[in-house]
Amino acid sequence: MIEVERLSKIYHMGVQQVPALAGVDFRIEQGEFVAIMGPSGSGKSTLMNLLGCLDLPTSGIYRLENLNIQNLNANQLAEVRNQRIGFVFQSFNLLPRATALENIELPLLYGRVPNSREISLQALDRVGLAHRAKHKPTELSGGERQRVAIARALVNRPAIILADEPTGNLDSATGKEIMNLFQELNRETVTLILVTHEQEVANLTRRIIQMKDGKIIADKRVEAC
Ligand code: ADP
Ligand code: MG
Repeated sequence: MIEVERLSKIYHMGVQQVPALAGVDFRIEQGEFVAIMGPSGSGKSTLMNLLGCLDLPTSGIYRLENLNIQNLNANQLAEVRNQRIGFVFQSFNLLPRATALENIELPLLYGRVPNSREISLQALDRVGLAHRAKHKPTELSGGERQRVAIARALVNRPAIILADEPTGNLDSATGKEIMNLFQELNRETVTLILVTHEQEVANLTRRIIQMKDGKIIADKRVEAC
């Protein structure tokens, strides 16, 4: 599903060059559940931005479902993002004035998908929040907000869901609930990639990729427990 070869990203800061990603190689198959770990500044977010088609690599190859992402233009990238990728962020990134249901419906409206209301309600129900459809983000707890964000990520039936520190703003019990939801989705064969610096969170996935200085220094299966 995902194949990257010698993927690299160099940021230019005036005359300075920052090699954020220094040539990484890996494959992720459909249905995998992967954690990306590593110290601050090791290139995790840079990698997620590339996988999410939010940015293009300086060099290297990124294939997503046999599409050569590095060759796409901005419009094509936007289309791939809308149709194949779901994003979940540490800070939820919900629209404050929109209800839970409206937040979920938005990507469908962009894509002009019919029956968007009904599909959004199903997604909200899937994350256990059908009874909160009319609530605005400020009227929801942190865990509920993240569930809404996950429902929004799911609603276009993306090939992959990318989550950058999805439990970073949650207390550990709520974080565990969110991880349980991810585990359930993964059992339903959703492909998930998440960044975390918590070992406990990473242990709930099935594969851990360790990064350091823009490189992969370890890539291990998590033992089933
Ligand atoms: P992580 O998510 O692991 O903390 P990042 O991918 O955010 O790491 O950053 C990797 C390196 O790239 C860091 O040295 C960071 O300062 C640098 N970097 C990240 N984004 C930018 C940017 N937009 N412009 C310049 N340098 C950046
Ligand atoms: Mg980061």
